[in-house]
Amino acid sequence: MAAAVELAARNVPVSVFEAGPIPGGRARRVEVNGVALDNGLHILIGAYRDTLRLIELVNPHRAAVLQRLPLDWNIHGEFHLAAQRLPAPLHVLIGLLGASGITWREKLAIAQFMRALKRNRFRLAPDIRVEQLLMQYGQSEKLCRVLWRPLCVAALNTPPTIASAQVFLNVLRDSLYAERGASDILLPRVDLSALFPEPAAAWITRRGGQVRTECRVTAIEPAENSFVIETGGTRETFTHVICALPPHQVNAFLIGITALSETAESIERFEYQPIHSVWLQYPGSIKLPSPMLGFTGGIVHWIFDREALCGQRGLIGAVISASGAHLQLPQDQLAAAVHQDLKRSLGNLPEPAWARVIAEKRATFSCTPGLKRPSQVTPLRNFYVAGDYTESDYPATIETAVRSGMTCARRICA
Ligand SMILES: Cc1cc2nc3c(=O)[nH]c(=O)nc-3n(C[C@H](O)[C@H](O)[C@H](O)COP(=O)(O)OP(=O)(O)OC[C@H]3O[C@@H](n4cnc5c(N)ncnc54)[C@H](O)[C@@H]3O)c2cc1C
Repeated sequence: MAAAVELAARNVPVSVFEAGPIPGGRARRVEVNGVALDNGLHILIGAYRDTLRLIELVNPHRAAVLQRLPLDWNIHGEFHLAAQRLPAPLHVLIGLLGASGITWREKLAIAQFMRALKRNRFRLAPDIRVEQLLMQYGQSEKLCRVLWRPLCVAALNTPPTIASAQVFLNVLRDSLYAERGASDILLPRVDLSALFPEPAAAWITRRGGQVRTECRVTAIEPAENSFVIETGGTRETFTHVICALPPHQVNAFLIGITALSETAESIERFEYQPIHSVWLQYPGSIKLPSPMLGFTGGIVHWIFDREALCGQRGLIGAVISASGAHLQLPQDQLAAAVHQDLKRSLGNLPEPAWARVIAEKRATFSCTPGLKRPSQVTPLRNFYVAGDYTESDYPATIETAVRSGMTCARRICA
């Protein structure tokens, strides 16, 4: 959708084929019991420059669709760091001085770690695992548990035992060490399809483009100076293709096209990490102390209060990122375990009226050290690949996907 908006903005007549009934892909609305949920709760940060610009372009009410909060890292009952309204990097450093739940020695260890990273310009050669990096810089078990591990898993959706330290540092560089607003947290106040892809589709249509939902592409055939796209029984010819499928599905189209064999091979080597989202509908009187709250020690990583964000009273969304013991549980047991976790931490919660687990088994690629990711520009002329898995110094995020789409669109226009 980012590629299509960028092309439509330059008056290129663009057609988007979307297999699903609702645009949004891995960040989309899912309706359950007549309630608009998301397939997974998503957080944006101020550093998502291009995503925020596109949301603003297609959605005239940006302030109404995103709640912007200064960084507030609140691990329930264990650790709390709130960024201050000061110029960077003082906003985080002064926040660190006032943080609760860690010792002065641990605060100093964080400050020294951050200073060393800055001195080395956030570069590592060669890339190592996040766990190794944290050990090298003497980060205590508690700091890893309440800060670095949750930050690594939230940003890379990959456990620190296997995650790329270089990509982790890129995220720290552009969020905590950039201007103050870059570390802000932006939480959607509407469902994810209403946040960007639906207004984007309307915007593209107004500029003469087309967005066809429930329109699955079944084949892409390179022809002379063009491509034939097959959807069901229909065949149409286009001058350029941006193939914006998720990495685990894209090779069905690339394998078999000789010029794309290297691209396909690099994608074949990817491994994936899941994300589980558990929605629990409690009575309307149930509220969280803040819109977003972190946990360690149990199954749940983060919970979100949908009333504070979208006005959905009593609805709590819980996130469990990456692999872990929870994968062994059937969905009803997982929902019950999440409820028990919340009860233990928050006090006497009543049984939820209903609960729903949404499992995204291949939510993102595993962001491991030195992973080679394919370029958006392929050796096949006028054929591009876009998505969160393509060449970038960021992990699989909305911003990565958006930048990737924009790169393709700009290359086409150039
Ligand atoms: C549960 C969950 C939580 C996440 N949390 C965050 C977060 O907090 N912050 C963040 O930045 N990122 C988060 N991410 C990652 C983010 O959602 C993805 O990086 C991003 O959505 C990827 O976008 P994409 O366009 O690359 O791929 P996708 O969103 O996967 O889009 C691919 C599209 O291709 C369509 N498609 C597939 N096959 C065909 C076909 N044959 N014909 C036509 N269409 C087809 C699909 O329906 C889909 O719409 C999360 C992901 C998940 C799953």
